[in-house]
Amino acid sequence: MPTQRLFDRINSVHLQQVTKQYGEHVAVKQLDLEIQGGELLILIGPSGSGKTTTLRMINRLIEPDEGVITINDHNIMDFDPVRLRRNIGYVIQDIGLFPHMTIRENIGLVPRLEGWSGQEISDRVRHLLDFVSLSPESFMDRYPRQLSGGQQQRIGLARALAMDPPLLLMDEPFGALDPILRKQLQDEFNIIKQEIGRTILFVTHDIDEAFKLGDRIGIMSDARLIQIGTPEELILHPENELVSDIVDAKKKFKHMDTLRVKDMMSPITDTYLFDAGMTAQDAVKRMTQTNVELAIVLDNSVPVGYVEMAHLVQQIYYDVTLRDIVEPIPIFSSNDHIASALEKLKDRGGSLGLVMEAERPSGLFFLNDVLLRLI
Ligand code: ADP
Ligand code: MG
Repeated sequence: MPTQRLFDRINSVHLQQVTKQYGEHVAVKQLDLEIQGGELLILIGPSGSGKTTTLRMINRLIEPDEGVITINDHNIMDFDPVRLRRNIGYVIQDIGLFPHMTIRENIGLVPRLEGWSGQEISDRVRHLLDFVSLSPESFMDRYPRQLSGGQQQRIGLARALAMDPPLLLMDEPFGALDPILRKQLQDEFNIIKQEIGRTILFVTHDIDEAFKLGDRIGIMSDARLIQIGTPEELILHPENELVSDIVDAKKKFKHMDTLRVKDMMSPITDTYLFDAGMTAQDAVKRMTQTNVELAIVLDNSVPVGYVEMAHLVQQIYYDVTLRDIVEPIPIFSSNDHIASALEKLKDRGGSLGLVMEAERPSGLFFLNDVLLRLI
């Protein structure tokens, strides 16, 4: 494909004394930041601390008032901004898919502008849809409004990867999603991250997300970078009160003996409860409407297991109900000790448990969450 690349791989992205002002207001102040090739660097901090501004200066959607930004030691101001942006994937919360274009057209937009053939574009779109766990046959020719929020978010990622960019900028990509769906996408993204092995700058305001995904974490406050380091460094040596508040060092060190399942579960609402008699097709429809990708299946009000969107979409052409395909799930009480719950999950080889309170499903318990808290 005749696409001209600015860089095949990233050695470093370097911001030196970068300042951006809006009138009197300083959005980013004398920022020094180095993103190393191949790492996933998280920027976290309160709203308005300058995270988005920092990200958008790297792909030149915004230009700094002072300072220099280099990629592999080339000043980015020497590149044509459009060409620069085609070498940098950009994923945002409100992913802005074009509503009148199909998924194939949305993902293939830039490749088409770059003069790829129809066949090359189709091949690439198929590959990317597979990559983000959406079946190409079911999704290529749909329109964005026919997709759930989580599915649209995956399309946003696929679109950002269309030109195989060596650098990816992600601005709160999971920020608008329900907490449980967010965890599922984070888990998927962690796997994708290993596979694509590229340099990623990722903005979030969710510390759990930061710990889950980041190789290093930079903490921003009030237009400045306060501290940057690995999760362990930030927990063990927070530079000040603000950092220790954000990394919540106390909670991390709280001893496991004192923790109960309810301290670590993600609450669920009725949205997550599906009847065992429902067909796979109806379940997919309802999940799409309510923007969840996982549901607890109840048979006569008794939980019998769970189903996931990714599995259900493979079943919609068969005449099956949830009862036929439900996966078993271990059940915990909200007062169970974490240690015993972990043992039980480990024995079952599962990664997910259902928490019951007063005979009602009240939450989900993810193995990964617990392990993360124990670093
Ligand atoms: P964050 O992403 O950390 O929430 P931003 O980088 O979006 O923060 O914004 C940093 C500061 O700059 C905020 O105080 C915001 O109000 C201000 N700001 C951002 N964009 C503009 C703009 N286009 N005009 C004026 N002020 C802006
Ligand atoms: Mg922002």
